[in-house]
Amino acid sequence: MDPIDGQTLPPPAPFMFGCAECVKLLTAFGEKVTADAGCFYEQLAIARHIVEEHPDQVPEPHARNCDRCPRYASRSDGDPGGLWAEHRARDLFLPEPIARLL
Ligand SMILES: [Zn+2]
Ligand SMILES: [Zn+2]
Repeated sequence: MDPIDGQTLPPPAPFMFGCAECVKLLTAFGEKVTADAGCFYEQLAIARHIVEEHPDQVPEPHARNCDRCPRYASRSDGDPGGLWAEHRARDLFLPEPIARLL
């Protein structure tokens, strides 16, 4: 897996530029990305923020190329911890191969 760098990041979803907290989190993530290819903390912070503050922007479950959505979908208790929603929210600011890691 190639490390994340500024070139491989997709442009963040447009709604994120209208939210001061999103911009702040994306800036922190962007600064971290060049120094630390993992930057998991920043990734998680953005995904959690989107789920909590922008739930209507969370993408639909992935129909393909994802082994996590079918597993989440088969759970009888839904998504109590919001982890499935966080997984889908990663699409909004990460390249697909990296977004689907968590
Ligand atoms: Zn936001
Ligand atoms: Zn998925």
